[in-house]
Amino acid sequence: MENYNLIIGSHVSMSSPNYYLGSVKEALSYGSNAFMIYTGAPQNIKRTPTEKCKINEGIKLAEENNINLNNIICHAPYLINLGNIKNPNTYKLSLDLLKSEIQRTSDFHIKILVLHPGASLNEDRKKSLDQLINGLNEALNNDYDVKIAIETMAGKGSELCNNFEEVAYVLKNVKFQNKIGVCLDTCHINDAGYNLNNFDKVLDDFDKIVGLNKLLVLHINDSKNPIGSRKDRHENIGFGTIGFNNLINVIYNKRLNNLPKILETPYVNGKPPYKIEIKMIKDKKFDKNCFSDF
Ligand code: FE
Ligand code: FE
Ligand code: ZN
Repeated sequence: MENYNLIIGSHVSMSSPNYYLGSVKEALSYGSNAFMIYTGAPQNIKRTPTEKCKINEGIKLAEENNINLNNIICHAPYLINLGNIKNPNTYKLSLDLLKSEIQRTSDFHIKILVLHPGASLNEDRKKSLDQLINGLNEALNNDYDVKIAIETMAGKGSELCNNFEEVAYVLKNVKFQNKIGVCLDTCHINDAGYNLNNFDKVLDDFDKIVGLNKLLVLHINDSKNPIGSRKDRHENIGFGTIGFNNLINVIYNKRLNNLPKILETPYVNGKPPYKIEIKMIKDKKFDKNCFSDF
């Protein structure tokens, strides 16, 4: 496609000793011009102070290599569940954690923080969504140049926002409209029941219900499970039920020009697959033997 600005990368690690400088180096080694980090392990809340994270060195290297800082994404830890209406303590902890993650995201000069909307734990779904909204309204403010991107979920268990209507409901009720948007995950929407064989229809629906102007970033993953399975297990690009051509249609969709696309596909033989996947995406050519001697 002419004039299509492909912005592609993967999630990369951010760990000792090189921290953010290492993240940028890793992204560049895959041929990326975008990437996503967790500012610490996604499963826990142990965090290295940002002063130690070699942020300025990372930013310098990114800028020298044409990675636009707007295409760098941060992902909040999984432990945050602002929708937990069973346990007020979890809500309080989640809110504190989200506030500190916004601060950390800002310390990294990253402008988009992806957040899982949480789960109702089979309590009243509407109440759970309303508490998520309250949490967002508590956490967001204009002190930081950081937007939260609510991720579309597969609907595993009682996950919130496994449909565009719930995403729209949350977004509509957030006070700081300039600080909220969406991260669309292809594996999650497939597992939630959206048909990527007809992605233009999916985008039409998204536009009607949520608004395409709210879309900030995409997670590009194939899925191990069929449409509507509510499982959330990512597969390597072209090896799953969504398939290579459908993912290429997403990645090169005219309406998604200029949006960062981030791979979160599983490691193969203990190694990151992203260099190979990104090459296939750039060539628009799938090779089913690409990992045969990997
Ligand atoms: Fe996620
Ligand atoms: Fe994702
Ligand atoms: Zn997932």
